[in-house]
Amino acid sequence: MTTTPLAEMTRIVLAGVRNAGKSSLMNKLFQKDIAIASDTPGTTTDPVTRKIELGKLGMCAITDTAGLDDTSKLGEQRILKTRERLETADVILFVSPGNIKPSADEKELLKWLSEKKLPWIAVLTFGDRPLHPEKEVFFAEQNRIILDNTRDKSSLALISKMEKLEREISKELTPVEGLVKENDLVMLVTPIDLAAPAGRLILPQVETIRDLLDKDCAALLVKEKELYSLYNNLGIKPSLVITDSQAFHKVSADLPEDQPLTSFSILFARKKGDPALFIESLKALRDFPENGRVLVMESCSHHRQADDIGTVKIPRLFRQLVGSKVEFGHSRKIPENPKEWDLIIHCAACMMTQKAMNIRLEIFRKTGVPVLNYGLFLAWANGLLPRALEPFPELKEIYKQSVLTV
Ligand code: SF4
Repeated sequence: MTTTPLAEMTRIVLAGVRNAGKSSLMNKLFQKDIAIASDTPGTTTDPVTRKIELGKLGMCAITDTAGLDDTSKLGEQRILKTRERLETADVILFVSPGNIKPSADEKELLKWLSEKKLPWIAVLTFGDRPLHPEKEVFFAEQNRIILDNTRDKSSLALISKMEKLEREISKELTPVEGLVKENDLVMLVTPIDLAAPAGRLILPQVETIRDLLDKDCAALLVKEKELYSLYNNLGIKPSLVITDSQAFHKVSADLPEDQPLTSFSILFARKKGDPALFIESLKALRDFPENGRVLVMESCSHHRQADDIGTVKIPRLFRQLVGSKVEFGHSRKIPENPKEWDLIIHCAACMMTQKAMNIRLEIFRKTGVPVLNYGLFLAWANGLLPRALEPFPELKEIYKQSVLTV
């Protein structure tokens, strides 16, 4: 874990029609040949993403996309991929040939951008040629920049324009935001069991440690087996203990009741998802259909270890506590018909941006399918709610009002 995770970077997406100069712009931003720039329309087929540090925007992931007017055999699929990238972008660079009047696809993109209210900049390429009068009125002057492909070697002017959008970029919460203060001691419980990846910690743990250091706190790591004796010999009370959800039961039993305790999954439910929706969805566990169907969703492909949480632990617990005949499915993609499922249980989504996760949650919300995340389900299954919500008074209140009877 030597670089900023992709899901934590500012996502900049280059969009426009074919031959607008997107790939040339990508190469200009990176000062080297990243993408194939050619006069042949449709050279970029799949989105190409590269990482770069860009001044005040910090680490960014810049994606070059296929043209929005791709009429080739695979064009429809490519445009779909471009649209997916646009939906989850933090900043969009609308690349458009300045010397040509706006096309129908460009008009459509402009309409979409104004509806979405995303930060964006028009990059007018072919600046060595006269600006088309219709393009001049199409893009407001304060929101555009003109690039002369033949002479402008640097992209500094564009980067400084992008930096000005910094405040408009929506930022995710950091893992412990609002939960700790300078000089706090926070204990992190990280089991190293069969399901743990070899030789490293998982992303939510790494991000939490880094966030604690950024907030001038001390982070003390311990496995669940050593927790009891270490905690009782500490001499000071940690301001917070954060545990892996899977060890919640043991950790809770080993700590005094007044010790604030939560889990990495609940931190990430807050950071990436909608914890209020997850808490409301706990109601679905009451009167769950005898032959009901549960879809377990994860956001990344990872090698499944023995006793894997998504395919083994959660189904086992669910069948013990909710219904022995419940059917389980597993997916990384949104199901075509979410209504075929009675409940979704989603992973902590550490590899996704909050925007991408919200798109998923919105689909479930609209279709009325309840959705939980691993952490909430495990805390409930271990009888640890509302204790795991103590550090979040607003969530505890939602729990009290909606699901005390679950
Ligand atoms: S499955 Fe989910 S929580 Fe686990 S590493 Fe992948 S994105 Fe993160």
